[in-house]
Amino acid sequence: MEDPAVKVARLLENSSYAIVFTGAGVSADSGIPTFRGPDGLWRRYRPEELASPWGFERNPRLVWEWYAWRMRIIASARPNAAHYAIAALERRGLVRAVITQNVDGLHQRAGSKNVIELHGNIWRARCTRCGYRWILESPPSDDELPLRCPRCGSLARPDVVWFGEPLPEAALRRAFEEAGKADLVIVVGTSGVVEPAGSIPVHAKERGARLVNVNPEPNRYTGMADVNVEERAAPFFERLARVLGLELPRE
Ligand code: NAD
Ligand code: ZN
Repeated sequence: MEDPAVKVARLLENSSYAIVFTGAGVSADSGIPTFRGPDGLWRRYRPEELASPWGFERNPRLVWEWYAWRMRIIASARPNAAHYAIAALERRGLVRAVITQNVDGLHQRAGSKNVIELHGNIWRARCTRCGYRWILESPPSDDELPLRCPRCGSLARPDVVWFGEPLPEAALRRAFEEAGKADLVIVVGTSGVVEPAGSIPVHAKERGARLVNVNPEPNRYTGMADVNVEERAAPFFERLARVLGLELPRE
């Protein structure tokens, strides 16, 4: 049987506008847990209890502690071969944009330039009162939590999109524009169940784009994908990079 990496390499070389759409699974091989996987975060809580406006209202400190814990994991993690290969594909002109549901910033750390973040970024905080945003250079310690706005002293929150909240309008518009232009979408590590983000690859598919689905588990895209790559992202992208002669940093 032909290696799917060879098949995907050919699709990339024959495409004129390829984009990549990622979820938590692309960072799983960096040691960052997904929400729904077997080692889901904070198993005593459902993500909906922590990543939600009502959860924050009920217990801002608990929510901040969860985010600070995730920031510590992300700070000590490194991009994996999938992030690096996606960045190298962009440099080579074979990928035009990366649309991500992740908040970890690993695509940018790996060198991707045109990254559309649909769900915000965990390294930013935002004032619940005056809207001031700022960058956190390192994970806050638990005794600083919940963070307060440096401008007005009101309660601050992580600048991420929570369950039940609308997505940043400009990012969502750009994402659908990219999907409308794409003739190839490589979906990596997402269940596709979080809306409206999950519909972006569907939008592209409906407009004639080819779909590649990199995920060890069946998911929303399995039935509509042109190629299902049923394996973990890092080893697959490592082979894809080799097939295309892309240089990846040594681990
Ligand atoms: P999800 O948890 O719903 O789905 C993760 C998907 O990744 C699953 O389909 C799983 O089979 C797949 N997967 C697991 N390991 C993989 C691997 N090694 N390689 C490839 N695929 C793998 O995640 P989602 O679809 O991104 O939606 C959940 C929401 O939670 C999103 O909004 C996301 O931003 C957020 N989230 C983000 C992070 C992060 O920033 N790293 C981590 C957890 C959750
Ligand atoms: Zn403020």
